[in-house]
Amino acid sequence: VIEIRDLHKAYGQLEVLKGVSLKAMRGGVVSLIGSSGSGKSTLLRCCNLLEDSQQGEVIFKGEEVKWRGEGLGRHPADRAQVIRIRTNLSMVFQQFNLWSHMTILQNVMEAPLTVLKRDRAEVEASARKYLEKVGIGDKCDAYPAQLSGGQQQRAAIARGLCMEPTALLFDEPTSALDPELQQEVVKVIKALAEEHRTMIIVTHDMRLAADVSDHVVFLHQGRIEEEGPPAELFGNPKTERLQQFLSATV
Ligand code: ATP
Ligand code: MG
Repeated sequence: VIEIRDLHKAYGQLEVLKGVSLKAMRGGVVSLIGSSGSGKSTLLRCCNLLEDSQQGEVIFKGEEVKWRGEGLGRHPADRAQVIRIRTNLSMVFQQFNLWSHMTILQNVMEAPLTVLKRDRAEVEASARKYLEKVGIGDKCDAYPAQLSGGQQQRAAIARGLCMEPTALLFDEPTSALDPELQQEVVKVIKALAEEHRTMIIVTHDMRLAADVSDHVVFLHQGRIEEEGPPAELFGNPKTERLQQFLSATV
């Protein structure tokens, strides 16, 4: 459902992505791994058009995004496309990004109400359903500060799900959490993978990548150095760089 072809991205002189292609099939889970600064977050941000790019294509459900030199989304004609794609790709960040002045239920309901303009009663029912699903159905009326990190991240996942997106994009969903809290979030992500939700997951957690992905992509200095099914990549890494990376992270 999402395809990226030969994407190039630079910040000024710094070339961050040097021709990356990536494909997420419906129901598939792709993990992005690689050392810090290799361009993982940038690539994820390009997928849902939080970043524009200098060259390359993003194709979402057969719909091609046209990059225009001066930045995507500033053209009125592009605006609708950008919103359509963004609302169909829910992003979950390392730092949860919940609104602190809203209850958990309000956090989850906000975007479906204001962006998608869906019916309030319907949104509330689905928000409660997703909070239940991630195991914090009893926290609807709490504020983010009253929740543990793992609970906040699960609320952020429920918020993403409540948009009924085509795919979920995770940027290091467990990195800000203590090990015991990471497991709660990993459990939720695994359950979503078992339901065949389309997901792209940036992670430092090799075990998570091995457990949930159909396809793993190893980025190194803005290029795909190696990719394949997890069993192959982790069991039999071919490039020296991936071998080094894996031995350094285990
Ligand atoms: P990490 O594992 O640390 O999150 P990453 O693989 O996600 O790393 P990116 O965040 O994609 O890496 O960053 C890739 C490179 O782009 C880095 O060198 C970073 O300093 C640079 N970069 C990222 N965002 C910007 C920006 N807005 N302006 C300038 N440079 C940036
Ligand atoms: Mg990152």
